[in-house]
Amino acid sequence: MTPHVLVQLTLRLRPCECKFDHRPPLKALPCYFEIIRPKSNFSHNAGGNAQRNMRRRERAARAYAEQAEQLRTTLASIGDGVISTDVAGRITNLNSVAESLTGWKHSEAVGQPIEAVFRIVNEESGQTIENSVKRAMQKGAIVGLANRSVLIAKDGSDRPIDDSAAPIRCKEGEIVGCVLVFRDVTVRNQLERLNEERLVVAQRLSSIVDSSNDAIISKSLDGIIQTWNVAAERLFGHPAEQAIGRHISLLFPSDRLDEEDLIITRLRAGERIEHYDTVRVRSDGQPVQVSLTISPLRDAEGRIVGASKIVRDITERKEMEGKLHQLVAQLSDSDRRKDEFLAILAHELRNPLAPIRNGLQVLKMVGDEAATVKEVRSMMERQMSQLVRLIDDLMDVSRITRGKLELRMEQVKLAAVLESAVETSRPLIEETGQELTFITPNQQMIVAADPTRLSQVFMNLLNNAAKYSDRGSHIWLTSERQGNEVVVTVKDSGIGINADQLPHIFEMFRQVHSSLAKSQGGLGIGLTLVKRLVELHGGSIEARSDGLGQGSEFTVTLPLATDASLLNVIGDGEERPLKSSFRILIVDDNQDGANSLAVMLRPMGNESRTAYDGQQGIELAGDFRPDVILLDIGLPNLNGYEVCRQIREQPWGECIVMIAVTGWGQDKDRHRSEEAGFNHHLVKPVDPADLMKMLAGLQIPKQK
Ligand code: ADP
Repeated sequence: MTPHVLVQLTLRLRPCECKFDHRPPLKALPCYFEIIRPKSNFSHNAGGNAQRNMRRRERAARAYAEQAEQLRTTLASIGDGVISTDVAGRITNLNSVAESLTGWKHSEAVGQPIEAVFRIVNEESGQTIENSVKRAMQKGAIVGLANRSVLIAKDGSDRPIDDSAAPIRCKEGEIVGCVLVFRDVTVRNQLERLNEERLVVAQRLSSIVDSSNDAIISKSLDGIIQTWNVAAERLFGHPAEQAIGRHISLLFPSDRLDEEDLIITRLRAGERIEHYDTVRVRSDGQPVQVSLTISPLRDAEGRIVGASKIVRDITERKEMEGKLHQLVAQLSDSDRRKDEFLAILAHELRNPLAPIRNGLQVLKMVGDEAATVKEVRSMMERQMSQLVRLIDDLMDVSRITRGKLELRMEQVKLAAVLESAVETSRPLIEETGQELTFITPNQQMIVAADPTRLSQVFMNLLNNAAKYSDRGSHIWLTSERQGNEVVVTVKDSGIGINADQLPHIFEMFRQVHSSLAKSQGGLGIGLTLVKRLVELHGGSIEARSDGLGQGSEFTVTLPLATDASLLNVIGDGEERPLKSSFRILIVDDNQDGANSLAVMLRPMGNESRTAYDGQQGIELAGDFRPDVILLDIGLPNLNGYEVCRQIREQPWGECIVMIAVTGWGQDKDRHRSEEAGFNHHLVKPVDPADLMKMLAGLQIPKQK
């Protein structure tokens, strides 16, 4: 008789470790099956014992039936699918969970090969995976399915599963079958996927926070720092491990501790605080300007449990703002000075005009009274030169600011430049009752300079010394060589300059003693001009004063010329008598200008005529046959260049000395007039003395 075999299944469950499912992962289920063979000590020949044996058999059969029932109910009540097979892999049993997962009824499944009922494929490839029942029996050990295994149910539906197969051994250790425990992990996989996605999002957020340039800090409502990103470390100098767990007041300067209470009050009310500019302190105690944006942090129920802070370092922005404010202040200051300048300009231009107009009236009234005429004329000359100087300064400043001023550099003796400046300033110095000490410098001091412009520099400084000194004060003009440089000093014992004004003295329209009464006939541009001119000569200028009433000192430093061989010194050369006897034609659409020039040239011995446009000029030239033509360029209809070209084309026009008179004095303008056929180029306003000098030195070519 075949011995009865009883399969006893004992499942020992470990405490749950899985986060998503309260059941342990299947691989953690150590299950074993013990095969209990009823003792087979039957005696076939013990007739007297037959009854006893029978009872024993009945007991054994009952016990078997009880144990089989116990096993069935155990299997039925397990939450996982369980299938048992014999050693050939044919199903011997399956519980109800296995029935529903595979779609096979117990009655259909028992006796079927395990592969028919428990069909497993790879989730991605769809390839059949080797059944774990077979592997468990081959290995003689517990095996589990690879990840991403899918169970194909009888109806073709699929679901991800997790399984574990363990061989069933008899008491002697021989493998007699296999038990497979499996479960649907659809929900678990979804949860895992969700969790993975959340993890990715969290990692991304964390890397955003870490790569942010702004410090991002979170704190609890009682002010304890909870998170601290890399930028917070950089900004405040505290490493995260030192900052987390500390109170946020760690970052507050002592005079701003009460800010935290205000912040917390607003946060508790659910308010967000945006772009709050304040100061915090770094670990080294240094204050740092920051802008805070603080938002309440809420838990899952929406309760405010803390705050997130974004802290931006605004040191640079604050500096920029500071600079911007400074700039705005400077702009409005220069705007104000420009307004003042315009008022002064109007005043200064009107000042000389009044005496000139009076002078004309006097001349009309006194007729030929020689003494009065002489006096009035010299007064008018003074006023006129003051007007011309103002306008010249204005034009120079405008040229310099537009970068249009060109220097005509030469090697010149410094002494000659200074003498020329003294000569020009002497009338003002004498008029204002000053005493000038001028020590003529060593003749060998040569500078590379535009003599007119450099002389203008010292003339301006001397004039200022005279203007800003009381009658009877002293002015010194000295120069000394210092290495490869020359230092020229204009010093006065006048009203002086306040220390706070000294740094601004060279600014445009700056008048230290700023009231119309004290402007002394200036526009506040003289020193700007002086400084720019000195710089164009490669030099520098400095102003010094011990304060109001203490006098002033202006020091100009210029490089000495290295090559004296090109020496062409102003003031050198013979003085020529200012006499000429030419036939001169003046062509200018400014009739007063043309007429007054014609009148001025006659007493020198010249014969002069005027024309007021280009065509008239050409015609008059044909009749008058002048030796010299003073020709304005900006004429209506036919401009000066064209007039010059047409006259040059005439047989009588070749030898005429053509002099361009124009407001444009740059090199390109000179080239243009030369190309048109002009012999000389004079820039308006033409100084009568210069013109006379030029005429006196003219050699008129002989007519062919
Ligand atoms: P201004 O045409 O007003 O003289 P400047 O540019 O030459 O203009 O001078 C600017 C201001 O500097 C003057 O208005 C005056 O207040 C001051 N200043 C210039 N030179 C002297 C000086 N030698 N002594 C005192 N103040 C001076």
